[in-house]
Amino acid sequence: MIQDGPTTGLAGVDRHPTDQDSWGPRLAAILNPPQLEAVTAPDGPLLVFAGAGSGKTRVLTYRIAHLIESGRAQPDGILAVTFTNKAAREMRQRIESLLGAGQAEGPAGSPGTPGRGERPASWGGSPAWMGTFHNICGRVLRRDGHLIGVDRSYVIYDEGDRLSAVKRAMAGLGLDEKRFPPNAVVGRISTAKNEIQGPTEYAAAASDYFSEVVARVYPVYEGFLRDASGLDFDDLLLKVVRLWQEDERSLERWRHRFRHVLVDEYQDTNRVQYTLVKLLAEEHRNLCVVGDDDQSIYRFRGADVRNILSFERDFPEARVIKLEQNYRSTQSILDAAHAVIKAVADRADKRLWTDRGAGEKVFVAQVYDEQEEAEAIAAEVRRLVARDGSLNDIAVLYRTNAQSRALEEVMVRQGIPYKLVGGVRFYERREVKDALAYLRVMFNPNDTVAFNRVVNVPRRKVGDKTVQVLEAAARQRGISVWDLLAAEARPAGITASAAEGLQEFRALVEGLRRELDRHPLPEVIEMTLARTGLQAWVSDGSEEGAERWQNLLELKGLAAEYSGLRGMEALGRFLEDAALVSDVDSLDEAKPGLTLITLHMVKGLEFPVVFMAGMEEGLLPHIRAIEEPGGIDEERRLCYVGMTRAMRRLYLFHAFRRHLFGNANLNLPSRFLNDLPEEIVERPAGSSRSTGANRASVLDAVSRQPAAPAPPPVQRYREGQRVSHRAFGPGVVVKSTLTRSDEELIVRFDNVGIKILSASLAPLETA
Ligand code: ATP
Ligand code: MG
Repeated sequence: MIQDGPTTGLAGVDRHPTDQDSWGPRLAAILNPPQLEAVTAPDGPLLVFAGAGSGKTRVLTYRIAHLIESGRAQPDGILAVTFTNKAAREMRQRIESLLGAGQAEGPAGSPGTPGRGERPASWGGSPAWMGTFHNICGRVLRRDGHLIGVDRSYVIYDEGDRLSAVKRAMAGLGLDEKRFPPNAVVGRISTAKNEIQGPTEYAAAASDYFSEVVARVYPVYEGFLRDASGLDFDDLLLKVVRLWQEDERSLERWRHRFRHVLVDEYQDTNRVQYTLVKLLAEEHRNLCVVGDDDQSIYRFRGADVRNILSFERDFPEARVIKLEQNYRSTQSILDAAHAVIKAVADRADKRLWTDRGAGEKVFVAQVYDEQEEAEAIAAEVRRLVARDGSLNDIAVLYRTNAQSRALEEVMVRQGIPYKLVGGVRFYERREVKDALAYLRVMFNPNDTVAFNRVVNVPRRKVGDKTVQVLEAAARQRGISVWDLLAAEARPAGITASAAEGLQEFRALVEGLRRELDRHPLPEVIEMTLARTGLQAWVSDGSEEGAERWQNLLELKGLAAEYSGLRGMEALGRFLEDAALVSDVDSLDEAKPGLTLITLHMVKGLEFPVVFMAGMEEGLLPHIRAIEEPGGIDEERRLCYVGMTRAMRRLYLFHAFRRHLFGNANLNLPSRFLNDLPEEIVERPAGSSRSTGANRASVLDAVSRQPAAPAPPPVQRYREGQRVSHRAFGPGVVVKSTLTRSDEELIVRFDNVGIKILSASLAPLETA
């Protein structure tokens, strides 16, 4: 039976000729009834409110396809906001395959600009816009920013740029970085922008000393950005809100263009994002948002879960659809996740079910420390892969980036390929940033951060002092540094050799700018690398140098996507995309390897096998959250997001002892583990709460640790005794102390130095 939406249906609208017979039945066959209702619901506000893995993203994707297929919307009348650009890309591909080749030119992106760009080749007759808020706002500003004084060739200040601008502002105000950490100042400014507070509003609301300090830095920082035509990430959104609040005609045009607005992961929108969506959609009201209050995990970035909970108040006529069937995970995994999330105080109760059966139990094990944790995971990974699993099916999730180090070390040692999401990003590598800075100055010579970065790279005798004198002179005359250099060969106060270096730099950049009109972007990048001396500088014969050169070549390779555009335009888009690439965007599913990723980044993804490392008090929940009001609930949601990524098998590890941030801590198992019903939990054989059968795997090794210290303590080791530790190797006992419940040992290991160990838990043997 074909079930159509309640009022509009496939039967009632013109279908695309190529799909006449297959589309409707196909939809009904691949969607469950509430999903189908959401996909085919008529115009007007629509909220799909449902738990993890229930098909929200799928519904959004199919709804877009349906809008196009049914003729209710042209591709270019659709705006879809996703959490990452990668998600947008996947959505685009999916729609393309759904609609068939006949309509591929619609949402698929024009040939020659696929991939990271996510943008239409031109304004008219273009495909749907899909991307993150930042990506979309960047595009809006390129077109309309000038209406509120945003330079068409604005540059995006990334995290590093913004930190250096704040530091400069603080130095100018004589503020001590030790007393007022610049990172914290950056954070406050960012929060203010996400709350749509400019410097004046912020200053008016400042109520404590630190806020007052920030209130002084904020306008100076804004001044720097203005002079450099720079926008930070938050500005991209904030400026569009200002644009639409101040310029009615611009707002009208965009409203008219995007007759259908769809937002994924709506629970994590913050105030500025919420305002954007509302401005755009409140007139035509064709707004479809999907989300899950249980997965709201970006409170620290200003995300407000109330946005989803109050959707029905903002749009009282909204149709609300709940999805309860989960298609991702087994029932055991769902039950475990539900046990953790149900304790959250302020949530809309919902429970997921699946027809996939109970599946394997959730595996919970204690390990000695992070080293052993990594080894246990590696061994289990090997076992899974040997049983014809694929590394690409497996992910290891953790709470903090710092946890990846131990995991990486073991994977490297054991030759297990892995993909780290959120390490030193490609675009943050030094040589890549240098090359990009040159390109930025070419694009916009007033980009001060970029100018300062490379004016003396490689050395041209232009020191910091020269730059300061130059900036002061330019400010005094009310012109830009670049214009000053054009007007005067040697501005006052500049030494002859510095002036020579500056003019050399200017001539170099101007020369390269001219090349942009004549050659495709990759060629201009090649010229840039050669003429600026970057190529010679990185190619120093060392292995590291070779790697740097590879990275620069990679940068050039990425520019190939923009070859079809004219010089400056190509460069502008290339730079914008480079600035907006997120960690997850660079995750390449096709590349073989295990995925290492933080809980915050893993949202929306799924893997057949998931390991969660560090299920300990202080880590998950994180120590900072324990003290904050509402903090534990946020950590519960984070844990829930992690667990619900797993399709078939979920492993939870907690270490007895963990070295993190330079300290060794004895950690208690996470309180979230206590919430798991024992009947869906499997523990390694021999552990105190074991329920499972003996498994022939690495986990036997894990199981050799008793889960709890065995009282009463007896002295088993003496000072001077040779011992051997499974991970640390051979060593000698320096000191043994009996505590109330255990014997604490200080051991000097031959290879790794002094460690403090607990005799009852450490995998120690007497030698
Ligand atoms: P999350 O909350 O984690 O973002 P979600 O609600 O967006 O999850 P999806 O990612 O859309 O869920 O779907 C989860 C998985 O279930 C996907 O692999 C999807 O293809 C599959 N799925 C969803 N609906 C169906 C269906 N009706 N039939 C078969 N598979 C489905
Ligand atoms: Mg989703």
